[in-house]
Amino acid sequence: MGKFPIADEQLLGRVVVCRKCKARNKAGRKSCRKCGSIYLRPKSKELRVKK
Ligand SMILES: [Zn+2]
Repeated sequence: MGKFPIADEQLLGRVVVCRKCKARNKAGRKSCRKCGSIYLRPKSKELRVKK
């Protein structure tokens, strides 16, 4: 108990955010669907809790 279910990780773990236009893209994409930038990073960092 105390830990979040894996469901949360599946929801946010499969999303990447474009560093240029901040559009959300599905993980696995090589480039942003909006601006075509290849600079994408996972979004899961936001909801991470320390300790
Ligand atoms: Zn973009």
